[in-house]
Amino acid sequence: KLSKRLETVCTYIPSGSRIADIGSDHAYLPCYAVKNGIASFAIAGEVVEGPYQSALQQVKNSGLGDAVSVRKGDGLEVIQKGEVDCITIAGMGGALISSILNKGMEKLSENERLVLQPNIAANFIREWCIEQGWQIIAEEIIEEDQKIYEILVLEKLKDKKPYFLTEAELLMGPILIKENNSVFQAKWHQELQQWKRILKSLEQAAETAETTEKKKQLQKNITMVEEV
Ligand code: SAM
Repeated sequence: KLSKRLETVCTYIPSGSRIADIGSDHAYLPCYAVKNGIASFAIAGEVVEGPYQSALQQVKNSGLGDAVSVRKGDGLEVIQKGEVDCITIAGMGGALISSILNKGMEKLSENERLVLQPNIAANFIREWCIEQGWQIIAEEIIEEDQKIYEILVLEKLKDKKPYFLTEAELLMGPILIKENNSVFQAKWHQELQQWKRILKSLEQAAETAETTEKKKQLQKNITMVEEV
Protein backbone atom coordinates (compact mmCIF):
# COMPACT_ATOMS: atom_id res chain seq x y z
CA LYS A 1 0.00 0.00 0.00
CA LEU A 2 1.22 3.44 -0.92
CA SER A 3 1.42 6.27 1.62
CA LYS A 4 -1.37 8.85 1.54
CA ARG A 5 1.30 11.40 0.57
CA LEU A 6 2.40 9.53 -2.58
CA GLU A 7 -1.15 8.44 -3.37
CA THR A 8 -2.17 12.10 -3.41
CA VAL A 9 0.73 12.87 -5.78
CA CYS A 10 -0.64 10.11 -8.07
CA THR A 11 -4.09 11.70 -8.24
CA TYR A 12 -2.53 14.57 -10.24
CA ILE A 13 -0.96 12.32 -12.89
CA PRO A 14 -3.10 12.56 -16.05
CA SER A 15 -4.49 9.11 -16.77
CA GLY A 16 -2.38 7.05 -19.18
CA SER A 17 0.68 9.31 -18.92
CA ARG A 18 4.24 8.28 -19.41
CA ILE A 19 5.85 9.44 -16.18
CA ALA A 20 9.26 9.96 -14.62
CA ASP A 21 9.64 9.86 -10.85
CA ILE A 22 12.87 11.60 -9.92
CA GLY A 23 14.48 10.63 -6.61
CA SER A 24 12.29 7.56 -6.60
CA ASP A 25 14.06 5.62 -3.84
CA HIS A 26 12.11 2.29 -3.71
CA ALA A 27 10.20 3.10 -6.91
CA TYR A 28 6.96 2.72 -4.96
CA LEU A 29 5.25 5.54 -6.84
CA PRO A 30 6.07 4.39 -10.40
CA CYS A 31 5.16 0.77 -9.59
CA TYR A 32 1.85 1.84 -8.04
CA ALA A 33 1.02 4.17 -10.94
CA VAL A 34 1.66 1.48 -13.57
CA LYS A 35 -0.06 -1.28 -11.62
CA ASN A 36 -3.19 0.85 -11.20
CA GLY A 37 -3.35 1.97 -14.81
CA ILE A 38 -2.56 5.60 -13.96
CA ALA A 39 0.66 5.51 -15.98
CA SER A 40 1.28 3.56 -19.17
CA PHE A 41 5.03 3.66 -18.66
CA ALA A 42 7.32 4.93 -15.90
CA ILE A 43 10.92 5.87 -15.31
CA ALA A 44 12.31 5.67 -11.78
CA GLY A 45 15.33 7.96 -11.52
CA GLU A 46 17.83 7.73 -8.67
CA VAL A 47 21.25 9.24 -8.18
CA VAL A 48 22.36 7.25 -5.12
CA GLU A 49 23.46 3.61 -5.46
CA GLY A 50 21.54 2.19 -2.44
CA PRO A 51 18.12 3.58 -3.38
CA TYR A 52 18.82 2.75 -7.04
CA GLN A 53 19.34 -0.91 -6.05
CA SER A 54 16.12 -0.81 -3.97
CA ALA A 55 14.25 0.49 -7.01
CA LEU A 56 15.64 -2.28 -9.24
CA GLN A 57 14.67 -4.89 -6.64
CA GLN A 58 11.16 -3.48 -6.19
CA VAL A 59 10.49 -3.45 -9.94
CA LYS A 60 11.81 -7.00 -10.28
CA ASN A 61 9.69 -8.25 -7.37
CA SER A 62 6.54 -6.68 -8.74
CA GLY A 63 7.10 -8.10 -12.24
CA LEU A 64 6.73 -4.65 -13.83
CA GLY A 65 10.06 -4.64 -15.63
CA ASP A 66 8.48 -4.06 -19.06
CA ALA A 67 6.73 -0.88 -17.97
CA VAL A 68 9.03 0.57 -15.32
CA SER A 69 12.54 1.55 -16.33
CA VAL A 70 14.94 2.14 -13.44
CA ARG A 71 17.72 4.55 -14.34
CA LYS A 72 20.67 5.87 -12.39
CA GLY A 73 21.53 9.52 -12.77
CA ASP A 74 21.29 13.04 -11.43
CA GLY A 75 17.86 14.65 -11.68
CA LEU A 76 16.37 14.95 -15.18
CA GLU A 77 19.56 13.48 -16.71
CA VAL A 78 17.75 10.11 -16.80
CA ILE A 79 15.07 11.22 -19.28
CA GLN A 80 15.10 12.13 -22.95
CA LYS A 81 13.33 15.30 -23.95
CA GLY A 82 9.72 14.45 -24.84
CA GLU A 83 9.95 10.96 -23.36
CA VAL A 84 7.40 11.59 -20.59
CA ASP A 85 4.15 13.53 -20.10
CA CYS A 86 4.43 13.99 -16.37
CA ILE A 87 7.30 14.32 -13.90
CA THR A 88 6.90 13.67 -10.19
CA ILE A 89 9.46 14.75 -7.60
CA ALA A 90 8.52 14.00 -3.99
CA GLY A 91 10.00 13.88 -0.53
CA MET A 92 12.79 16.44 -0.89
CA GLY A 93 13.19 20.07 0.07
CA GLY A 94 11.85 22.80 -2.20
CA ALA A 95 15.35 24.15 -2.81
CA LEU A 96 16.62 20.77 -4.06
CA ILE A 97 13.54 20.26 -6.26
CA SER A 98 13.96 23.67 -7.91
CA SER A 99 17.68 23.08 -8.42
CA ILE A 100 16.88 19.74 -10.13
CA LEU A 101 14.45 21.58 -12.44
CA ASN A 102 16.97 24.34 -13.17
CA LYS A 103 19.78 21.92 -13.92
CA GLY A 104 17.55 19.82 -16.18
CA MET A 105 15.83 22.66 -17.97
CA GLU A 106 16.93 21.51 -21.46
CA LYS A 107 15.20 18.15 -20.80
CA LEU A 108 11.80 19.79 -20.40
CA SER A 109 9.66 19.92 -23.55
CA GLU A 110 7.38 22.18 -21.48
CA ASN A 111 4.38 20.01 -22.34
CA GLU A 112 4.94 18.01 -19.19
CA ARG A 113 2.89 18.38 -16.08
CA LEU A 114 5.07 18.63 -12.97
CA VAL A 115 3.72 17.19 -9.73
CA LEU A 116 6.00 18.26 -6.89
CA GLN A 117 5.85 17.43 -3.20
CA PRO A 118 8.37 19.48 -1.24
CA ASN A 119 8.82 18.46 2.40
CA ILE A 120 9.89 22.00 3.29
CA ALA A 121 10.31 25.38 1.62
CA ALA A 122 7.66 25.17 -1.10
CA ASN A 123 8.28 28.90 -1.61
CA PHE A 124 11.42 28.03 -3.63
CA ILE A 125 9.24 26.19 -6.13
CA ARG A 126 6.73 29.04 -6.37
CA GLU A 127 9.60 31.46 -7.02
CA TRP A 128 10.89 29.11 -9.72
CA CYS A 129 7.43 29.17 -11.34
CA ILE A 130 7.42 32.96 -11.60
CA GLU A 131 10.99 33.08 -12.94
CA GLN A 132 10.43 30.35 -15.54
CA GLY A 133 6.83 31.05 -16.54
CA TRP A 134 5.13 27.96 -15.13
CA GLN A 135 1.67 28.16 -13.66
CA ILE A 136 0.50 26.59 -10.42
CA ILE A 137 -2.65 24.78 -11.56
CA ALA A 138 -3.35 23.00 -8.28
CA GLU A 139 -2.11 22.90 -4.70
CA GLU A 140 -3.03 20.50 -1.97
CA ILE A 141 -2.08 20.26 1.69
CA ILE A 142 -2.48 16.99 3.57
CA GLU A 143 -1.63 15.48 6.93
CA GLU A 144 -0.26 11.98 7.43
CA ASP A 145 1.25 10.59 10.64
CA GLN A 146 1.28 14.04 12.22
CA LYS A 147 3.30 15.48 9.37
CA ILE A 148 1.97 18.06 6.96
CA TYR A 149 2.82 17.93 3.25
CA GLU A 150 2.18 20.25 0.33
CA ILE A 151 1.71 19.15 -3.27
CA LEU A 152 2.14 21.60 -6.15
CA VAL A 153 1.01 20.88 -9.70
CA LEU A 154 2.57 22.95 -12.48
CA GLU A 155 2.07 23.44 -16.19
CA LYS A 156 3.92 25.75 -18.52
CA LEU A 157 2.12 29.03 -19.12
CA LYS A 158 1.09 29.15 -22.76
CA ASP A 159 0.71 32.91 -22.99
CA LYS A 160 3.88 34.73 -22.08
CA LYS A 161 2.25 37.36 -19.90
CA PRO A 162 4.30 37.71 -16.72
CA TYR A 163 2.43 37.15 -13.49
CA PHE A 164 3.16 37.86 -9.87
CA LEU A 165 2.53 36.34 -6.50
CA THR A 166 2.48 38.37 -3.31
CA GLU A 167 4.98 37.53 -0.59
CA ALA A 168 2.25 35.74 1.36
CA GLU A 169 1.26 33.73 -1.74
CA LEU A 170 4.89 32.71 -2.35
CA LEU A 171 5.23 31.51 1.22
CA MET A 172 1.85 29.89 1.78
CA GLY A 173 0.53 29.14 -1.72
CA PRO A 174 -2.03 31.15 -3.72
CA ILE A 175 -4.54 28.29 -3.96
CA LEU A 176 -3.99 27.06 -0.40
CA ILE A 177 -4.57 30.57 0.98
CA LYS A 178 -7.92 30.80 -0.83
CA GLU A 179 -8.94 27.38 0.35
CA ASN A 180 -7.78 28.04 3.94
CA ASN A 181 -8.65 24.53 5.17
CA SER A 182 -7.99 23.06 8.61
CA VAL A 183 -4.65 21.42 7.67
CA PHE A 184 -3.42 24.73 6.25
CA GLN A 185 -4.45 26.50 9.44
CA ALA A 186 -2.72 23.86 11.56
CA LYS A 187 0.51 24.20 9.56
CA TRP A 188 0.71 27.97 9.85
CA HIS A 189 -0.38 27.91 13.47
CA GLN A 190 2.61 25.65 14.18
CA GLU A 191 4.96 27.88 12.20
CA LEU A 192 3.71 30.99 14.02
CA GLN A 193 4.29 29.41 17.39
CA GLN A 194 7.80 28.40 16.41
CA TRP A 195 8.64 31.86 15.04
CA LYS A 196 7.32 33.46 18.22
CA ARG A 197 9.48 31.17 20.34
CA ILE A 198 12.55 32.11 18.29
CA LEU A 199 11.67 35.79 18.47
CA LYS A 200 11.37 35.58 22.25
CA SER A 201 14.77 33.96 22.63
CA LEU A 202 16.31 36.54 20.29
CA GLU A 203 14.83 39.30 22.42
CA GLN A 204 16.64 37.87 25.41
CA ALA A 205 19.95 37.56 23.54
CA ALA A 206 22.50 40.34 23.18
CA GLU A 207 21.59 42.82 20.47
CA THR A 208 23.77 42.65 17.33
CA ALA A 209 23.15 43.75 13.75
CA GLU A 210 22.42 40.14 12.94
CA THR A 211 19.83 39.56 15.67
CA THR A 212 18.16 42.88 14.85
CA GLU A 213 17.84 41.83 11.22
CA LYS A 214 16.56 38.37 12.16
CA LYS A 215 13.98 39.84 14.53
CA LYS A 216 12.76 42.22 11.85
CA GLN A 217 12.36 39.37 9.37
CA LEU A 218 10.55 37.16 11.88
CA GLN A 219 8.24 40.00 12.90
CA LYS A 220 7.42 40.62 9.25
CA ASN A 221 6.61 36.96 8.60
CA ILE A 222 4.50 36.74 11.77
CA THR A 223 2.44 39.76 10.76
CA MET A 224 2.04 38.41 7.22
CA VAL A 225 0.85 34.98 8.31
CA GLU A 226 -1.42 36.38 11.01
CA GLU A 227 -3.07 38.61 8.43
CA VAL A 228 -3.86 35.60 6.24
N1 SAM B 1 10.40 10.11 -3.79
C1 SAM B 1 10.39 9.19 -2.68
C2 SAM B 1 9.32 9.55 -1.69
O1 SAM B 1 8.79 10.65 -1.80
O2 SAM B 1 9.03 8.74 -0.80
C3 SAM B 1 11.76 9.16 -1.99
C4 SAM B 1 12.14 10.39 -1.24
S1 SAM B 1 13.77 10.29 -0.59
C5 SAM B 1 13.63 11.15 0.90
C6 SAM B 1 14.68 11.33 -1.66
C7 SAM B 1 15.42 10.54 -2.72
O3 SAM B 1 15.90 11.44 -3.70
C8 SAM B 1 16.64 9.82 -2.17
O4 SAM B 1 16.53 8.45 -2.48
C9 SAM B 1 17.81 10.47 -2.88
O5 SAM B 1 18.83 9.56 -3.20
C10 SAM B 1 17.16 11.02 -4.15
N2 SAM B 1 17.81 12.17 -4.77
C11 SAM B 1 18.31 13.27 -4.17
N3 SAM B 1 18.84 14.11 -5.06
C12 SAM B 1 18.66 13.55 -6.29
C13 SAM B 1 18.98 13.93 -7.62
N4 SAM B 1 19.62 15.06 -7.87
N5 SAM B 1 18.64 13.11 -8.62
C14 SAM B 1 18.01 11.93 -8.36
N6 SAM B 1 17.68 11.51 -7.12
C15 SAM B 1 17.99 12.31 -6.11
